[in-house]
Amino acid sequence: MTKEKESTNKNNELSNLRDDINSIDTDIIKLLTKRRNVSKEVVQFKESSVIPVRNKEREKEILNKLIEEGKKSGLDSHYITTIFNTILADSVRVQHTHIQDKLNPNSNLDIARVAFTGIEGSRGHVAACQHMDRKGVEGAYVSCKSFNQLFDLLESGKAEYALLPVENTISGGINEAYDFLLQRRPSIIGEEKLRTTHSCFAMSPITAGDIKIIYATPDDLQQCSSFIDKLGDVEIRYVRYSAQAIENLKKDKSKNTAAIGFLSASLTEGLEVVSDEIANHRESFTRFLVISRKPVEVDPQIPSKTSLVIATGQEPGALVNALLVFQEYGVQMSKLESRPLLGNPWEEMFYVDIDGNVKEERIIAALNDVTKRVRFIKVLGSYPKDGIDAAKLGPNSEAVSNKTKKKEIATAKAPSIKTDSKSESYRLGSRAYKAEDTVIDVKGVKIGGDNFLVIAGPCSVESEGQINDCAKHAQEQGVQILRGGCFKPRTSPYSFQGLGYKGLEFLVNAGKHYGLPVVTEVLAPEDVQKVSETADILQVGARNMQNFTLLNEVGKTSRPVMLKRGMSASILELLQAAEYILNQGNQQVFLCERGIRTFETATRNTLDLSAVPVLRSKTHLPVIVDPSHAAGERDLVIPLVLAAKAVGAHGVMVEFHPEPAKALSDGPQALLYSQLEDMMQQIA
Ligand code: PEP
Ligand code: MN
Repeated sequence: MTKEKESTNKNNELSNLRDDINSIDTDIIKLLTKRRNVSKEVVQFKESSVIPVRNKEREKEILNKLIEEGKKSGLDSHYITTIFNTILADSVRVQHTHIQDKLNPNSNLDIARVAFTGIEGSRGHVAACQHMDRKGVEGAYVSCKSFNQLFDLLESGKAEYALLPVENTISGGINEAYDFLLQRRPSIIGEEKLRTTHSCFAMSPITAGDIKIIYATPDDLQQCSSFIDKLGDVEIRYVRYSAQAIENLKKDKSKNTAAIGFLSASLTEGLEVVSDEIANHRESFTRFLVISRKPVEVDPQIPSKTSLVIATGQEPGALVNALLVFQEYGVQMSKLESRPLLGNPWEEMFYVDIDGNVKEERIIAALNDVTKRVRFIKVLGSYPKDGIDAAKLGPNSEAVSNKTKKKEIATAKAPSIKTDSKSESYRLGSRAYKAEDTVIDVKGVKIGGDNFLVIAGPCSVESEGQINDCAKHAQEQGVQILRGGCFKPRTSPYSFQGLGYKGLEFLVNAGKHYGLPVVTEVLAPEDVQKVSETADILQVGARNMQNFTLLNEVGKTSRPVMLKRGMSASILELLQAAEYILNQGNQQVFLCERGIRTFETATRNTLDLSAVPVLRSKTHLPVIVDPSHAAGERDLVIPLVLAAKAVGAHGVMVEFHPEPAKALSDGPQALLYSQLEDMMQQIA
């Protein structure tokens, strides 16, 4: 045989073998597909009976059998375990998805719009595709330049889902993302973990030593600092997204230009890899939250996580005290991030992840208890955990974890909610829910508890001079909180309507100057966010007690809210109105009795003092009295203040004015300076 012929024969043989391998691979794919389909049929049985989706014992059995079989053909157990763990995980995932889709039929869209930050091929895009693949829904991907745009698209209904990167296992939490979560509070419906690899690319085959210019994001540079240091003198050009580094490289035709990027097939075609796996640490993951407008329900069979936002008081140990609840109930906490609270220097909000589902009794009970210990709480959602832990082949691992689970449930307290037919409608505010009195702390002033609170100030902020003068007098007399209306709810449109934001600025400055927290009324839902940035307490007036949009809006803030009783509202309706605020997350609500409409005309309203002991028996929220608006006449105010104290109110709110005769609103009921002084002495 000639040498040539010999080589052709060999080539033929090789190509035959390659064909064999290719056809075996195709068979493997066919078998994997077949296996997946059978797995889908299996789940139908599991849902009709109550068999749990995950049966680690059965998985172990399967693995052990396969390992035995593999050994017979000379395949080692590690090889078999690795491959079949992946296959088993896929099966579990397919079954979970099936159950979730049945539970949340709305998520069964044919095509869903998914927003991500970055450009095509960036990590956000890849994570978005990964999520939609898993759901088996086609995605229409919308690229965003900023988190702001991402949230706007979601909230305006222009996207069904959005992918928000929250942390990287090497570079840590992404502060801006947490700020958005805390402020915009979307529903979290899933998480995606994406392995992040870093490679250095160029347009032609060069070596690292040839690089003169390199495109990269600051974060990628930090993660690949050892590689960069070795390059010596190179010019670094910063970009916002890794995908942009690659795009710039493609535009920049120079041979000595490189880019650090993320190995994403769609983008890196036609590029040369100068060096791969160049990050200081190889194992790096980015975690994305999948957010939506509406929460999803998670089947109890599926391992899940719950995310929440809480704010605690500033007193020492407040956070620990709240988090201890999770320990008491055996709830595992997997994340705690703190971020400063806008407008409240040195105060913080916390983002917390716990293992478990809001539908579980244990989680319900734990969250009920946490609610009693915090100023603000909002559950952002329960969602399936990303990552399916492989069945472990250790000795009896399942039996051990079952034992610890049982113990946790045994030590968990039963939910402490007693139900009586009416208090159901104001659950969070009821004594049945929380027996002990709520005490609100505003810059060191206690509302509730043993302190008899005095709030005083003019009906309206009329000028800078007027409110400063009032603040000075209030402070000298021992008043604890300064009031002043800036947005006035006037019965006639021709009456003085308040100075608005200008007035708020005067009030806040006066309060700061004299060391008094301030309270002011908000009239419109759209003003709530802005007013809450500077006012220490938000007031919802009598005329708005059942403005549910407004109640929901103040419920989203972390400022204490003074809710006044409507002039024709029953005590029950007042409690139900307070419930709107509590239900939105804000636990710092106090109530104010200010007189109701009766047939009596001798006073502006009739002060319903019996509301005080009634409210105090029904609710843990502090209760104060406003005799000024009840009586409408200054000489009646002091006796009613004393009466309020006698019936157990936690404090009073009164109006006073430097020159009541010239007041722009409620002059007749405004106390003179001397009367305020007299009142303070009599209270003492
Ligand atoms: C006020 O306190 O400024 C006020 C307008 O009171 P009410 O809402 O009770 O009438
Ligand atoms: Mn008034």
